[in-house]
Amino acid sequence: MDYSERRATVVNALPKGLLIGGEWRAATGEATLEVEDPATGRTLAVIADAGVEDGHAALDTAVKAQDSWAAHPPRERGEILRRAFELLMARVDDLAVLMTSEMGKPLPEARTEIAYAAEFFRWFAEEAVRIDGGYAVAPNGKGRFLVMRQPVGPCLLITPWNFPMAMGTRKIGPAVAAGCTMVIKPAAQTPLSMLALAEILREAGLPDGVLNVLTTSSSGTVMEPLIRSGRARKLSFTGSTQVGRVLLEQCAEQILRTSMELGGNAPFLVFDDADLDAAVDGAVLAKMRNIGEACTAANRFYVQAGVAEEFSQRLAERLAGLKVGHGLDDGVEVGPLIDATAREKVCSLVDDAVARGARVLAGGAPLDGPGHFYPPTVLADVPDEANLRNEEIFGPVAPVSAFVTEDEALTAANDTDYGLVSYLFTRDLDRAVRVSERLETGMVGLNQGVVSNPAAPFGGVKHSGLGREGGRVGIDEFLETKYVALNTG
Ligand code: NAP
Repeated sequence: MDYSERRATVVNALPKGLLIGGEWRAATGEATLEVEDPATGRTLAVIADAGVEDGHAALDTAVKAQDSWAAHPPRERGEILRRAFELLMARVDDLAVLMTSEMGKPLPEARTEIAYAAEFFRWFAEEAVRIDGGYAVAPNGKGRFLVMRQPVGPCLLITPWNFPMAMGTRKIGPAVAAGCTMVIKPAAQTPLSMLALAEILREAGLPDGVLNVLTTSSSGTVMEPLIRSGRARKLSFTGSTQVGRVLLEQCAEQILRTSMELGGNAPFLVFDDADLDAAVDGAVLAKMRNIGEACTAANRFYVQAGVAEEFSQRLAERLAGLKVGHGLDDGVEVGPLIDATAREKVCSLVDDAVARGARVLAGGAPLDGPGHFYPPTVLADVPDEANLRNEEIFGPVAPVSAFVTEDEALTAANDTDYGLVSYLFTRDLDRAVRVSERLETGMVGLNQGVVSNPAAPFGGVKHSGLGREGGRVGIDEFLETKYVALNTG
């Protein structure tokens, strides 16, 4: 199917300004930024490029709207989210064309992301009416404790380019449910999905000023004064560990509440006793979802010696058979990487591993042509010293090494500063529990290659972050606990 006409219609219909106080407006000085299609390098849209003044205007609005929004009945807050969920699902096809165009992921994956993104709204629509508190008799019997939970206050939200909509709904959903107002800043490379999402929330009845959207090419310059202003009460960030660390330092000045969803370096362990078909299927998913550009992407494969060669060969066969191309073309399973820098990083990590002795079983060199394409790649016998053992590859490269004992596998898996997710394939129940307990990650995929689920707590330990998004605890990140000491005489 030729999507070019449909894409033009969808992009034309999109608001291109900053959303401040319920109005789409131009940036100060009419500044604009261009959004590119990573598969062609062509300009897709020109949108507003916020500066510092626009940032302050957006936060002013969020601060002004906070009290009335906090007083809004929880049922109504939930119903706004529920309507937004339905609108997202009704428009999934157009939204997917938009997302693929700005981010590159194949159309079926864009549809899956939009359904996943929408599900956060459905989940938090249900949580909005379940914010509870507590009542207790003091241990000495002479007083009573009343515990209430209240919105944190105006929030700053910053999201990455790899999941342009789901990383937004995972924050906006609980913030709306909890009664917080927001200023959100999507990534400069993929802001269009956020503009579409904000318009849908307006249509769903979100009052003016509750959600304000800043698109900008100067993230640091615009966001730092807002973080340091002391007028926002929380920062929720998803992105790299490097930027997360800088933002944590900025937040320290005003002691802002923080949620940090940062980078990963996921180990993928396969034991001799595993169902190898399931392990290969899981590996394809854990590696290739989002072209390997996911914080949850399997980054290091450790396979027990008895099945290592068979696993590597079967994975190489599966990955080599995937169709690479423009994400809007029929049958494409692997799109382009986000930009030239991302592709150069993948090239240099693969070259380094090969120079240190890794064997190339599939792919291994960039593809020609416009767009930043890199083919699915499998490397065997990857030595521990290879740079890709310690860095997020963020591309379609699966490096495999063999191990002999369980302890050896666990030591290798935990030998990283990151701790977001691990994958574990075994049919031995004792081992499954034992290894899951010892893996130093916030999440474990046991005999499955995807862990993300809006109803489950997503997040990492160590340098992968602070806090959890989704699940029952997702709303806690946007609530403060207040305790009232009752004098009962
Ligand atoms: P990034 O460079 O850290 O950027 C993330 C966001 O922060 C973007 O909106 C970016 O804006 C903004 N930003 C950059 N520097 C900033 C600064 N000094 N002040 C304020 N904002 C700033 O990360 P990315 O390359 O977009 O995303 C990939 C990373 O995100 C990977 O490490 C991945 O693992 C991680 N990630 C983690 C999760 C998770 O849930 N744990 C989920 C998805 C992705 P610009 O676009 O303008 O640079």
